[in-house]
Amino acid sequence: MSKKAIPQIAGTIFCNSASQGNDGKVNCRGVFTSFLAWAYPTSIRSWNAILTIYDLDEATTTISAAISYGQGKETKLATANIQRGKFDIGNVINIPLRYRFENEGFHLVHFTVEDSIASLRVPVKVTTKPWPNFTKKQLQFLKENSSVPHSLRMNILCSKCSRPFTLEESVLPDEKLAGGVLPFPHTGEIECESCGHILYVRDIQGQLRDSIKNAVSESMRGGK
Ligand SMILES: [Zn+2]
Repeated sequence: MSKKAIPQIAGTIFCNSASQGNDGKVNCRGVFTSFLAWAYPTSIRSWNAILTIYDLDEATTTISAAISYGQGKETKLATANIQRGKFDIGNVINIPLRYRFENEGFHLVHFTVEDSIASLRVPVKVTTKPWPNFTKKQLQFLKENSSVPHSLRMNILCSKCSRPFTLEESVLPDEKLAGGVLPFPHTGEIECESCGHILYVRDIQGQLRDSIKNAVSESMRGGK
């Protein structure tokens, strides 16, 4: 006679990507504590939540994940099914999450074991980064040093119809773009030609400018 187990969510970490091996262990890459944002709404952020759960029942257990901000209501993010491991030494589950942030500051990620009172609420912070502007000196350096990229491209998909777009950010003026490549619009919004969905791209533009700025700062300091 076995008693019905009462699951407990013991903790979580967030990381950029993760994969689960046959031994049940999860390899995480890029564990982070804050989302950095250059504009709102942000681009859709994808990340992984790695949860430790004890005392799972023998039946399949469903975990749901949601997010909330301030007094706002919860937005459902994902559900995942988990089976108890062979050896009941605790279970690790990798739940992929996706969300577009509308606000800076603390958000709460809620994990709930369905049909149970087991839950965990984890704060995660969204930090606004200043818009990456370039000094005259930095722009001059970029003109003179072709080994440091002054432009970057990003392929993005329409989140509604999956139409692909290639966007390029160049910090030097008068740059001719290759065919099919779009500049970032001043409005920060692109309307998908196929389905009319609005894509918010100013946050991505900020990320690209930030990585160009970091590369030029490092090169000017004598790094590689
Ligand atoms: Zn579309």
